Amino acid sequence: MILNLLILLFIGVHIEGCSWNTERQVDNQRDFKQLLVDIREQKITPQLAKLEFKRIMSELEERYPHAAFDSANVSLVFPLLGKNYRSVGGRGRGFYGRHFDLFDHSVAKSHPAHDIFIYDRDKDCKEDISGKYMDVLAVSDGVVIATETEWTEEKGYKGGNYVWLYDFQTGGLWYYAHQRKVYVVEGQKVQAGDKIGEVGRSGFNAKTNRSDTHLHLMFLKLDEHNEPTPLNHYPWLKAAKTVYQTQLPSHYPRKSIKADSISKRISAGLPISIEQKIEPKPVSFQTRSKKKKGRDRG
Ligand SMILES: [Zn+2]
Repeated sequence: MILNLLILLFIGVHIEGCSWNTERQVDNQRDFKQLLVDIREQKITPQLAKLEFKRIMSELEERYPHAAFDSANVSLVFPLLGKNYRSVGGRGRGFYGRHFDLFDHSVAKSHPAHDIFIYDRDKDCKEDISGKYMDVLAVSDGVVIATETEWTEEKGYKGGNYVWLYDFQTGGLWYYAHQRKVYVVEGQKVQAGDKIGEVGRSGFNAKTNRSDTHLHLMFLKLDEHNEPTPLNHYPWLKAAKTVYQTQLPSHYPRKSIKADSISKRISAGLPISIEQKIEPKPVSFQTRSKKKKGRDRG
């Protein structure tokens, strides 16, 4: 009897020992931002990163179900205020999707995105003709699933200040990189045309002098197994609607920003978007000049 108990106890401990890793992973489920950080810092294997990605995406899909979409009928708002596809670099030939691996940080030979340029010869991030920062807009209705707002040159990593958006129209993901400011928080729902940030030069390569000020925009399509593939979304950008007026999203998630992070920023004298994020009223932004067409770099 005692022997039986001891055996059972041993088996129990042994099973627990075996399953500890999996249970721990379930207990400490990463959100999407943490997953991206762990991939970047190579704290997670590509295989496990993929599993985590699929879990997060199926949760999003369940929470925000989307209808099947027809690529020919996807309708976007152009991501820069008052601009259109003529601001896209290389007339849409900047997309290079091969070798892309979201889960392996060591693979870096691809450019599965379009760079959308502003006219900024002095590289102060302001559009030279208007003298204003360029608003970055949500291209589609969706929810913000990750942001980076505290990029510094010392941190060095590639994307700079970024936003990841889960798209309600397609069930895919939009990645906006190199922003100077980010105006949204994780969990915030946005509507197409809402202001989510401003074009900037944050990011390892984007900050260098040889780089022209631009938004790096990637779209990841998810298949039925939530496998991500970068899609050349130039046709969508070509057909995208130009908007001349924007506003901050009207939705504010309950848990937007931790109080200590706000006070830290305020005491550090950082006039970054945090204050605007907790400002409850949407603000209107209007373009001063609509005569800017044709002056962009292509
Ligand atoms: Zn790029």
